[in-house]
Order: sequence, then structure tokens, then C-alpha cells
Amino acid sequence: MRRIDVPRALLLDRQPGDDLLLPDEQAHYLRDVLRLETGDEVELFDGEGTIVRGRLAAVGDEVRLKINKLRDSERGESPLTCVLFQAIPKGKRWKWILEKATELGVDSIVPLETKRTVVQIPKQRLKRRRKRWNKIVSSAARQSERTVVPTISDPLSIEEARKEPPRDIDLVAHPGGDAETPQQLLDAIDDPVDSVGIWIGPEGGFNEDEVQTMVDAGMSRISLGPRILRADTAGIAALALVQAARGDLGPGQAEISQSE
Ligand code: SAH
Repeated sequence: MRRIDVPRALLLDRQPGDDLLLPDEQAHYLRDVLRLETGDEVELFDGEGTIVRGRLAAVGDEVRLKINKLRDSERGESPLTCVLFQAIPKGKRWKWILEKATELGVDSIVPLETKRTVVQIPKQRLKRRRKRWNKIVSSAARQSERTVVPTISDPLSIEEARKEPPRDIDLVAHPGGDAETPQQLLDAIDDPVDSVGIWIGPEGGFNEDEVQTMVDAGMSRISLGPRILRADTAGIAALALVQAARGDLGPGQAEISQSE
């Protein structure tokens, strides 16, 4: 079945049985690009949790969809809120991080400005960059059958980022020392953990002062094993481990979240 993005307003207050007139852009895409016909099944997706499924009732100058199912669904969404705080690496690696973190169920991504961050985005370029980033996460969310598109904030300093809505636990990845892995740390907590922040440094790493300040603020240092991972690998590996420990990649959990 084809799944296409539509503006949120189009799906507000819709009911099964409604006949939906598609906006020109989506009508053109379904009719002229995908060449769908009357009777074909289509899913409309607003990226904020609503999915509407139906069949095309008319494909001509006007393209109409007859809604037969409405889902305010959590499908594809982890019960665990994961926030990835990560310094923007050079080149194409950032795009890769955005895509893979979305596939792994990240809730939001905060670009971090640290002492050793190399990539600084000038203010006047930020709007365009963010638009491009949003396109990447939106398409990754659609492709990986999520119902919610992760949000990406403006780049923030560690200090500013810490003030974002609080998480139950914040994990600061820093090589060396004898820190625990994310699983060891999360397994040792008896209380429910609903949200986790994962903090990954730039190519040159966090400096010791930054790590100390974060640890002093109550954040937990973690190890991702004995090898030094590139920053992009580190964020994605940590996210997978956290989802496996408390999210929807653990034993039995993947099936639960897939069922409708
Ligand atoms: N030369 C840097 C390495 C930076 S790797 C240093 O020694 O600090 C980039 C980022 O990936 C690090 O800041 C850290 O957040 C994460 N990272 C990479 N490998 C890691 C490991 N084995 N354990 C914990 N964090 C790691």
C-alpha cells in the first residue's frame, strides 16, 4: 500500500466514511507519479500520530479518498522516549545519523554545540538546514512505518540543552574509565524509565571539564565498549542499546509494538 505525507490540517476531525478531497500536490503525486487508480488503497500520514487509510474513490481532475479506517496510532513508536543530544559531525554523517536515529525510534534530536564541535551553522543558514533535516527525518519516518516524525531543535550548548524538558536519566558517552554500559546501568534501575537522554560528543570527544560538569549535574557516564567509535556510530549504537534495554527492541517487545 502507498503511504503519503499530507498536511496535518487535512486529517483533523475526519471520520470513517468521509470522502476526502486531496490537495493538488498529493493529487498530482498519486495520479501522475504513482499512477494509482480508483479502488487502490492509500494511507495518509500527518507525521504527528494520525494515519488515515482508505481507497481512492475518484482519480481524475479531482482525486478523492474514501476513508475506511482512522488510526491515532502508536504503531512504530517506542514506549520509551529517547532524545539524542549529538554534536553535528562533518559531511554526510549528520544526514546518516538523522536517518538511522529515526529508524531506531528516536523521539527528538538536539544538535549539540560543545567546546570541540567543528561544524557551526551560521544563523542565517539555520532555517534552510533545519528544513533539510526535517525532510530527512520525515522520509525516514515514513519509510520505517513510524507514525510520528522526530523533532529536531536548533543547535544548543550543553548548558542550554540540559534545560530541555527533563528526562528520567541522561547518559553521557565518554570513552575510557570504568563506566558501565547502557544495559548495565539501566538493568540496575528498578523504577520505570520512560525517557532517556543520550549524549554523544563531537569527533574530538567531550573535554574532561564538560564531562565533569555533566556528571556533577547528575548525569550518568556510560561506556560503549573498549573500542573508540566514531561519533556517528556511537549515537546509533547507544540508541539501539537503550531501545533494547528499555524500549521496543527488547525480547518480545518488537512484536507487541507491531500489532495493531
Ligand atoms: N578522541 C575522542 C573520541 C571521540 S569519539 C575521545 O577520546 O574522547 C566521539 C564520541 O563518541 C565521544 O565523545 C563519545 O561520546 C562517543 N564514543 C565513542 N566511542 C565510545 C566508547 N567506547 N565509549 C563511550 N563513548 C564513546
